[in-house]
Amino acid sequence: MGKNLNDIRADFPILEQQVNDEPLVYLDNAATTQKPKAVVEALTHYYYHDNANVHRGVHTLAERATEQFEAAREKVRAFINARSTKEVLFTRGTTTSLNWIAASYGEANVNAGDEIVISYMEHHSNLVPWQQLALRKQAKLKYIKLNADGTLDMTDAAQQITDQTKIVAIAQVSNVLGVVNPVKDLAKLAHQHGAVMVVDGAQSLPNMPVDVQALDCDFLAFSGHKMMGPTGIGGLYAKEELLNAMAPVEFGGEMIDFVNLFDSSWSQLPWKFEAGTPDISGAIGLGAAIDYLNQFGMAAVHEHEQKLVDYVLPQLLAIDGLTVYGPHEPAKHTGVIAFNLDGLHPHDLATGLDMEGVAVRAGHHCAQPLMKYLQVPATARASFYIYNTKADADRLVESIVATKEFFK
Ligand code: PLP
Repeated sequence: MGKNLNDIRADFPILEQQVNDEPLVYLDNAATTQKPKAVVEALTHYYYHDNANVHRGVHTLAERATEQFEAAREKVRAFINARSTKEVLFTRGTTTSLNWIAASYGEANVNAGDEIVISYMEHHSNLVPWQQLALRKQAKLKYIKLNADGTLDMTDAAQQITDQTKIVAIAQVSNVLGVVNPVKDLAKLAHQHGAVMVVDGAQSLPNMPVDVQALDCDFLAFSGHKMMGPTGIGGLYAKEELLNAMAPVEFGGEMIDFVNLFDSSWSQLPWKFEAGTPDISGAIGLGAAIDYLNQFGMAAVHEHEQKLVDYVLPQLLAIDGLTVYGPHEPAKHTGVIAFNLDGLHPHDLATGLDMEGVAVRAGHHCAQPLMKYLQVPATARASFYIYNTKADADRLVESIVATKEFFK
């Protein structure tokens, strides 16, 4: 990766602590990632030296704040290879971005009898906004099935997407099954039927190269906090022609051109959608996170996680009584691994792991329809990132075995 793992770990002071008298092993990265010093320092530098509101002031601090805020937008643009910064909107994160698409594009383009196609593996953020839009519009919400190994059933996708379909919305990487969905092929299918393709990039942007032009998706939503940035900032990519035709979702300062007593006109893209004072420090912090990731390159980040999966997945599969959800072939599985241990509630399993200093998530992972589909109430989930080591993977396996013995 061009930087050794010890040096990478030294960038994350939070990892140096003991939890329950054991060195912390942080494996809850799909929920949120840790922040390198460079991101925290970008935030403090901004507040110590440059804090001012953006786009309004003519004074030096306001100009500096605006410059850094817009420079962060350019970093996001380059990171996802959007054509222009007009196509990059700052939002609070994936959830807000998906809600904006439903509230603006969906509201204007989905009518009674139209179809919205999602899948059984969607996070609630890429499900409930579409469900509610469908209810408001008397449209039909359709679900693409999964294959037995948890991958998306593309034969079913080809049947579900029809000329009535207006929106196809799919996660590029599942936050439970760890599969990578063929969103490029889905975009092609969607376009053949005149529908738009929405990509939930919450779990893909942090872990692999994502190129919106190569995918030819129409929208892409993501969260900064899952890619080493601060919480409360994220983004929405959309093709410029779509954004031009769309109405803003929120109204107020910053997004207007002229305001008259009884009507108003909107600012240019991307500001037309960004009402009110934005999360300036958050955007700058996200820019710093992108710089941090760029020193490795996303292909190297992906490769590092893949090596850990190659190492840990066979060991997990070898534990008697442990069920791993999603594909069992490491090459088809990302660093998000959900599992259950026979006879033990996932919360007890996660509590057992926490006693060993290993942080994993337990619950429905905001994917209740998927839990129902898998016929489980919940699962435990370990998720790896760039600072995780083979030693972390060993500690996961050992602590699962120890917890199993403890509850015997
Ligand atoms: N989509 C997926 C696949 C996710 O994993 C998550 C977060 O876990 C979200 C959407 C929602 O992200 P946020 O809570 O940052 O808006």
